[in-house]
Amino acid sequence: MQKRVVASRNCPVCGCEVVEELFPVNLDLSNTTLPDHYNVVACDYCGMCYADTTASLQDYEQYYCECNYYGGHPGNVKQEEQNRFAEIEAHLQKLVKKDAVILDIGFGKGELLTYLKQKNYTNLRGMDPSVQSVSALREKGINGVVLSLQTTEIPLDYQRKYDVIILTEVWEHLYALKRCIQNVKSMLTESGYLILTLPTFDDLSDYHLPLVNMINHEHINFFSKCSLGSFMTIYGMKAVELCRTVIEEDHGSITYGILGVFQQSGLKDVVLEMDEITKDVLRNYYLKEKCELNKKNQILSRYFSQNIPILIWGAGTYLRQLWHETILPQCNIVAVVDGSEQKQGQLFGKFTIESPERLHNFDGTVLIAVIRYTEEIKARLSAFGFQGHILEL
Ligand SMILES: [Zn+2]
Repeated sequence: MQKRVVASRNCPVCGCEVVEELFPVNLDLSNTTLPDHYNVVACDYCGMCYADTTASLQDYEQYYCECNYYGGHPGNVKQEEQNRFAEIEAHLQKLVKKDAVILDIGFGKGELLTYLKQKNYTNLRGMDPSVQSVSALREKGINGVVLSLQTTEIPLDYQRKYDVIILTEVWEHLYALKRCIQNVKSMLTESGYLILTLPTFDDLSDYHLPLVNMINHEHINFFSKCSLGSFMTIYGMKAVELCRTVIEEDHGSITYGILGVFQQSGLKDVVLEMDEITKDVLRNYYLKEKCELNKKNQILSRYFSQNIPILIWGAGTYLRQLWHETILPQCNIVAVVDGSEQKQGQLFGKFTIESPERLHNFDGTVLIAVIRYTEEIKARLSAFGFQGHILEL
């Protein structure tokens, strides 16, 4: 028998509070408003898997305010994002005219809106809780409003206004999904469309990266095709289209996701489909991950016992996991650097995150603590003329 407990956070799909504990997630989140630990759980009633965090909505709103790495001006748009934008645009072409009123919620750097503007869509708007993101969007000539989708009430001005509402890679982050879908529905016109893209967790068979890339303090809803369908049905939405998407990551890893187009169904009868698959997929991946962490600890034990100085490059989620789950904090860490200007100057534990310029007179060991973009960091190291040792975990 698996252990059933009462959750701190009710199931985001059906609201049930009885869950099965699957495994713990530990990340060092000091200097943030979020706790270092939560359990991944499966809802006893519908099978939805999610983060049973003790953090509140306010903790999350504050976290995204203080640690907003999504805003500002776009850098290079990644190929996978270009593909996603093209796919969304292909759906828009089928659904609406170029002058349809389109709202992108949680637009971050505004890359999708910029792409749609180039494709001659004329009524584009953005909504994001970040002041910085909205002012950057306005500089590009696109209207934006500073507002969280998780707000208790959408102002009257924004109700029944939008022909299309788009959320790309946002749904897995949202704490108060019930409120979010109700707010989305209040903003859509009667026949309006909701377009979502999000990662799914019912198939990790071709996934080789650390699980923390998929399950972390920001990704807290682990939807499958089945649980997303149940969620939408409960809240009176029907799928017009539901396509699987594929993203190729580093090391031949593949993540799957969904691009869904939904409309209001007007139906009240709800048939819930139990998600029977995702919890086993996640549990198996966790067991694999535990073995990997053991191997990483074995590698680090040599650095620890010989007190070898290590400079860490990468102050993101992966480092937060290594810091909590391995002996890395006991090693002789001399500095933490990160290429992101938004992170430089912030604290990671007792370290102030520095610019990679710190590497100039360093010829010891550099631990590359990122899940993706290892090759880009290696290229920058060689551009610095770095002569030391590179450690990858
Ligand atoms: Zn549930």
